[in-house]
This record gives sequence, C-alpha cells and structure tokens, in this order.
Amino acid sequence: MRVVFLGVGEAFDENNPNNAHLILSKTKLLLDCGYSVPVQLWKYNSNQSFLDAVYISHRHADHYFGICPLLTRMWEEKRSKPLTIICQKGLKKVIIKLLEIGYPGFPKKFKFKINFIEVKSGQTINFKELKLSFAPTRHTAYNLAIKVDDGKQKVCYSGDGDFTNKTEQLYHQADLVIHESYLFQKSVLGHSSVTKLIAMAKRNEIKCLALTHLQRAFRKKDLQKVKQRIKQEKVKIILAQPGKEYKF
Ligand SMILES: [Zn+2]
Ligand SMILES: [Zn+2]
Repeated sequence: MRVVFLGVGEAFDENNPNNAHLILSKTKLLLDCGYSVPVQLWKYNSNQSFLDAVYISHRHADHYFGICPLLTRMWEEKRSKPLTIICQKGLKKVIIKLLEIGYPGFPKKFKFKINFIEVKSGQTINFKELKLSFAPTRHTAYNLAIKVDDGKQKVCYSGDGDFTNKTEQLYHQADLVIHESYLFQKSVLGHSSVTKLIAMAKRNEIKCLALTHLQRAFRKKDLQKVKQRIKQEKVKIILAQPGKEYKF
C-alpha cells in the first residue's frame, strides 16, 4: 500500500488544502473530500476513473463539501465505472441532497452508479482487498476514524477529533496513524494536541505518527516548537506535507 498526503490543513487555512489522503493499493481510496480537495486530487491524477471509493469521516464542510465538484466532473469526463462512498449511518441522504444543491438536476445525468456503504463504530468491512474498521473520536460532529488494512500494512486516519479508548484500540500497533493535531498542548473541545498524541503513539506502539490539521495560527507561529519536539522523541513523528507520498 502507498499513502499520499493530499491535504493537511484545517477548515480555514489559506495556505493548506483540507485534510485528505490517498490510499493507493489495488484499490484507490480517498480519505475525506473537503471543498479544497478535488483540485489537489486532479493535480495528482486527473483520470475520471482513478478512484474506486471515497471515505467521509464526518459532516463538516472541510471534510465532505468537495464531493459535489468531484462527482460532477466525473460525469463531465464521462465516467462509467461505479464509485463507492463509505460514510457513517445517516450521511448517505445528506450527500445525495448536497449533490443536488451543488448542481441541480445533474446527479440524475450521472452515467456511473454510486454505491453507498454506511458504517458504524466497531464495524469491520471488507472492501475489495482492504479491511476497513471504524471507531469514534471526540469531536463537535460525530466522527469515525478509519483503519485500512491491506494484510501487510495498517494505516489509520483520525478525521477530526480527540482520540477515545476505542480509537486507541483501533490505532494500536499501526504502521501509520495520520492524526489531526489542532494545537501543541492545550486541550480544545473536540480536538487533539501534539503532546497528547505523542504520548498516545508511545502507549500504542505506533510506528509512525503523521500530524495534520494544525490550527492555522499555531502552524504560522509555533511550527519550530513542533519540529524541535519531534527531534527529541524516539517515536517516529512527521509533519505531513501536502502532495507528498509517505515511505514505509
Ligand atoms: Zn476538519
Ligand atoms: Zn470537523
């Protein structure tokens, strides 16, 4: 499996596209699709049939408002291959409505089938060669973190939110955990911090922790502090860079 950090920004960061990542196995899976993500994806690969599936972690615009341009361009580029959207229970009807709001009348013209898979906490599903598992974080909207297991590597992505006991179990001994780290140390409702995450990564023997979704002012002011802290730690931590591929 290969992983590309497509976007690493929080909701309103003018310098970084929204948090979203590509899982490249036999199956091509996009993790989250905020409003600035389609452009990142098209720059990476403009083929309308490239993606097999999209996972949406929660109902915030920086994680799913890109669905509308993404799918409408697939139609315009004459996609015929079915697309799967994996999301939490109840999100299917919201996404269908969003598609219609964005470009009224267009979803009816799509020549490709959209297969929805609605999942819940604690569930594991087989999607082609991948095993996908889900656990809730603590966020202002209900959010499910995901683990992708191809039989060789285990990659987890938090979506938004602080980790819970259930997400820690999901992340345990993962090869890569891509986690939102809003601030350095301070606890903020519904978000995690760099120091908390480092302690969690050690407890769970995580092989690499990739930090994303840093609050924009914190990213501007205190990035040096994060880099210094990363150097001091024995556990492998990286600051994910947009467009960069992760090397296992
Ligand atoms: Zn977010
Ligand atoms: Zn959010």
